[in-house]
Amino acid sequence: MAETFDVIVIGGGPGGYVCAIRAAQLGLKTACVENRGALGGTCLNVGCIPSKALLQSSHLFEEANHSFAAHGIKVSKVELDLPTMMARKVDVVKQNTTGIEFLFKKNKVTYIKGTGKIAKAARGAHEIAVKTLDGKDETYTAKYVVIATGSETTPLPGVTIDEKQIVTSTGALELTKVPKSMVVIGAGVIGLEMGSVWRRLGAEVTVVEFLDVILPPMDGEVRKQMQRILEKQGMKFRLGTKVTKAEPGKAGVKLTLEPAKGGAAETLDAEVVLVSIGRRPYTAGLGLAEAGVIMTNRGFVQADENFQTNVEGIFAIGDVIGGQMLAHKAEDEGVACAEILSGQTAHINYDAIAGVVYTWPEVAGIGKTEEQLKEAGIAYHSGKFPFSANSRARANGDTDGFVKILADAATDRVLGCHIIGPEAGDLIMEVALGMEFGAAAEDIARTCHAHPQLGEAVKEAALNVAKRAIHI
Ligand code: FAD
Ligand code: NAD
Repeated sequence: MAETFDVIVIGGGPGGYVCAIRAAQLGLKTACVENRGALGGTCLNVGCIPSKALLQSSHLFEEANHSFAAHGIKVSKVELDLPTMMARKVDVVKQNTTGIEFLFKKNKVTYIKGTGKIAKAARGAHEIAVKTLDGKDETYTAKYVVIATGSETTPLPGVTIDEKQIVTSTGALELTKVPKSMVVIGAGVIGLEMGSVWRRLGAEVTVVEFLDVILPPMDGEVRKQMQRILEKQGMKFRLGTKVTKAEPGKAGVKLTLEPAKGGAAETLDAEVVLVSIGRRPYTAGLGLAEAGVIMTNRGFVQADENFQTNVEGIFAIGDVIGGQMLAHKAEDEGVACAEILSGQTAHINYDAIAGVVYTWPEVAGIGKTEEQLKEAGIAYHSGKFPFSANSRARANGDTDGFVKILADAATDRVLGCHIIGPEAGDLIMEVALGMEFGAAAEDIARTCHAHPQLGEAVKEAALNVAKRAIHI
């Protein structure tokens, strides 16, 4: 007899593992099927965590090379030990992924190592077939199935990935030597983060972007200033340009570029090419069509605000349902979905989910951009404060960037916040909390911020919504 669960989650990434833990906490008998051989999904294994480990290491390398002298610290020779840097990254990943296994045991979630498939959609007792990692066929039944199978790199026609010369983010996290030159296709989050890592370690990095701007969904002012900052750091940009062909050879890869709007082709050589033009939902072999689950025309699983697909008892969360492809969005959906399965109500405020780019300085945005507010015809006031006027940023020697808060002109309610600056990703969280509680800019401005802190720039930007900042 097949073992029966209340909930089977397919996929053990930030959406799936968090959903499984929360479901178990709520007393549901829960299993999670994962085929990677490790829990944590894209994020912990080949995404957020290894990229942040390398961003941190390469940042320290750059600081030692370029910033220590200004602090009166003389270093005679800074040398890169890439194998140690990579080994540290592997260790960081392992600590995190094994930590999730421990949490599964603690919460009594059954971890099924294998590839899951919906074999039969049957109300109240869906059948899940699993091909285990050691080759066995097993079957389980569950009242509820949660699809949390995540996403994969979107391929680019004419550019064949080999994960050596032409890589996705996964290959870019594992290069065994610093390439002399790297072309990054796509000036989005992965392109700028991984491009920064390899530029800091010594590669000449050129970013080719189809649109005329970098970081397309971000606030316009942020996009422009961030491009200038990255250019000052040595990153080159070819905007409004598309790659039509990539020919790998012994000496490197020859790329054919064309203006996005049409025009004469040219070539560009690179030792390594990173393809980072977005990610697409991953649903291969899941048996969704056979189970009658409706997908969107872009291949995402279609789910309503309660994560319910059109098939009763089959739910979906995380990257596979679209929206912002972020680990914390997937996690919150995991929690909300588990709570809904246990009979509670839950909802997610998608307007208060911050997006962070972990370059240096960092970029963070939440809520509406100025462009979105203008397009929607919403009257707003903008308060801005530069880090060059923040005493802690000066003491640290990190004065690039600003905080901008956008508030409703009539009610003063915070509608958005956009930051370029040191620790922008952490700084924006007080605005996220404020937005969750419906804060006005005045509420942030009147909150006493410890001195000397980078967060005082957030307070000053909030003060400046009413044009009454103190320090500029
Ligand atoms: P995933 O994490 O993709 O997990 C899905 C899991 O399901 C995978 O482990 C997969 O192997 C498994 N699976 C698929 N099909 C099956 C099956 N049939 N049976 C069993 N298992 C299956 N987001 C951030 O918020 N912050 C960051 O700093 C950040 N950095 C990133 C850096 C990189 C390089 C990349 C690529 C992504 C980054 N992201 C970041 C995005 C983040 O990784 C994703 O948004 C997040 O992992 C989505 O979680 P998920 O649970 O929906 O899917
Ligand atoms: P992205 O959507 O952030 O950026 C893709 C970029 O490629 C865009 O600027 C787009 O205009 C451009 N592009 C698309 N087609 C192109 C083409 N043919 N030629 C040139 N440029 C082209 O995607 P990504 O950087 O691949 O990241 C994928 C997902 O992973 C994102 O949704 C992101 O949220 C997530 N992620 C998040 C973080 C983070 O939160 N710090 C880090 C890495 C990845």
